Amino acid sequence: MSGSIADELEELRRQGLHRRLRLVAGSQGSRVTVAGREVLLLCSNNYLGLADHPRLKEAAVRATERFGTGSGASRLVSGTMELHEALEERLARFKGTEAALLFNSGYAANSGIIPALAGKGDVIFSDRLNHASIVDGALLSRAKFVRYPHNDVAALRRLLEANPTTGRRLIVTDGVFSMDGDVAPLRELAALKREFGALLMVDDAHGTGVLGGGGRGSGEMLGVAQEIDLQMGTLGKALGSFGAYVAASRELVEYLVNRARSFIFSTSLPPAVLAAALAAIGLVDSPEGEELRRRLDRNARLFREAAAGAGFDTMGSATQIVPLFVGGAEEAMTFTARLLDKGIFAQGIRPPTVPAGTCRLRCTFMATHGEEEILRAVGVMERVGRDLGVV
Ligand code: PMP
Repeated sequence: MSGSIADELEELRRQGLHRRLRLVAGSQGSRVTVAGREVLLLCSNNYLGLADHPRLKEAAVRATERFGTGSGASRLVSGTMELHEALEERLARFKGTEAALLFNSGYAANSGIIPALAGKGDVIFSDRLNHASIVDGALLSRAKFVRYPHNDVAALRRLLEANPTTGRRLIVTDGVFSMDGDVAPLRELAALKREFGALLMVDDAHGTGVLGGGGRGSGEMLGVAQEIDLQMGTLGKALGSFGAYVAASRELVEYLVNRARSFIFSTSLPPAVLAAALAAIGLVDSPEGEELRRRLDRNARLFREAAAGAGFDTMGSATQIVPLFVGGAEEAMTFTARLLDKGIFAQGIRPPTVPAGTCRLRCTFMATHGEEEILRAVGVMERVGRDLGVV
């Protein structure tokens, strides 16, 4: 790192890696207002449109009236309220596990759980494309950190064989990969975990509420939910609220209460957020949720097929996250800017979020998008993409 902050910022600009915040005015729906203009939103994780759902809003308002705005302390001091217990019980029931534990965000969950489970003498096996919060948790842990090629079960087996330990082994993977939209081979990972006596942790930030029966996630979809020792998920994406959880055995939850530093040393989630999440789970796990998932799946499928038909590389996506391969950082950001000009908001993704040379437009779909607006968007993307030479 160079000495001057200004120089470093300049260097980021030079490399096309400088980032700026963009204001989205109003509430989060499938169309939003950016720079005074209504645009089609194709980069939100509000997959089921619940962030603006009347039932969640009403639950949040009621909880605020009854319980106030803040919890006032961390969970182990005086910050455990009725709604924390109610939501943890509901999450455990939803996921079919003995227990569940809330975290303040997905980032806090991963960066707290992983160092609690693994330390010096232990080995963490992590998919190379896992989310940054998993990488940071692994780096914090001081365990040996072994990254295996993306979804490559044979390579993982070789690495498990090559890294014996008398300590703990933790295999950790995204359930749905956040920048690629593909799904981890959880059946094979569960078999390896059994064979090598490892713990298996799945980050289902993007599968929760979306995949599997009742929206129970990628583990449920692949029929191995009960073999996953730690099913982590977030409340801020399909569930339209904020925060995260891990569903696990009672013993593991008790252990994390005592060992996960991001759980122990942080003020607990406020009532409004908890009540909204509770309402969201009720909704997701109902016929209305089933219908929202059906529409989401239809929208994503429609886009994937039309984009591939237009000549885009959708990078193996099988879910509501559909990347369009671009390559360079400058081109990805130009793509985003040109689309925004034409009323479409789709975010270009650059390093360090994705490996260099694999910059992409990360398009995400919502149950509340209409078929025509998706097809129209593909038409615009095709024209801009041709102009930029990415199709
Ligand atoms: N894991 C994955 C796979 C994610 O995509 C994200 C959010 N982008 C997180 C964890 C972090 O979750 P949160 O936004 O709740 O901190």
